Amino acid sequence: MTHAPASARRLLIVGPPGAGKGTQAARISEALGIPAISTGDIFRANVSQETELGVLAKSYMDRGEYVPDEVTNDMVRSRLAEDDAREGFLLDGYPRTLDQVSALDGILSDAGLALDAVILLEVDVEEVVGRLVARGEQSGRSDDNEETIRRRLEVYAEQTEPLIAVYDERGLVRRIDGMRSIDEVTAEILGALGA
Ligand code: AMP
Repeated sequence: MTHAPASARRLLIVGPPGAGKGTQAARISEALGIPAISTGDIFRANVSQETELGVLAKSYMDRGEYVPDEVTNDMVRSRLAEDDAREGFLLDGYPRTLDQVSALDGILSDAGLALDAVILLEVDVEEVVGRLVARGEQSGRSDDNEETIRRRLEVYAEQTEPLIAVYDERGLVRRIDGMRSIDEVTAEILGALGA
């Protein structure tokens, strides 16, 4: 089977920093009527509210490193238990490590659920550095400076790229050319999901 069924509602979106995951997640979430859940956004909200979790997360985020798995997994487990995620969700930026893959497998199997598809946004890495530097200048996001961006790309290659093979073996990965226009990428994703 090359396409996910039209009912595909438990989804991940994966790709390097700057691939456009957040932008596409918002559009897919709207089109399918499922919440887009971004671990980066949840961490940033905690940072701005200066919660205990936020203080901890910031120390990792500002260096371009991943927040420890245990903290991240607990946060996702409670977010997925909320009512709006019952009929489906699009996880953006999670899982990012093999330990997080196992944790997510556990969360879903405890609930008798499984993933329907993994959307992989493929982009040119040098191009994304430029995009992220521009985003940092516009948004003031403190981890969008060139040094941290380069570290985030290294961490992605080391820790997150290996996940693609795991989901490929399960037949879940839908490869999408992320270098096209925002509208074209959205259309390609929806087509790949059979939506
Ligand atoms: P993002 O907005 O997805 O680019 O995430 C920004 C930062 O939040 C990352 O560079 C990490 O420091 C942290 N973060 C987000 N998601 C995760 C995750 N699944 N595991 C660990 N750290 C994460």
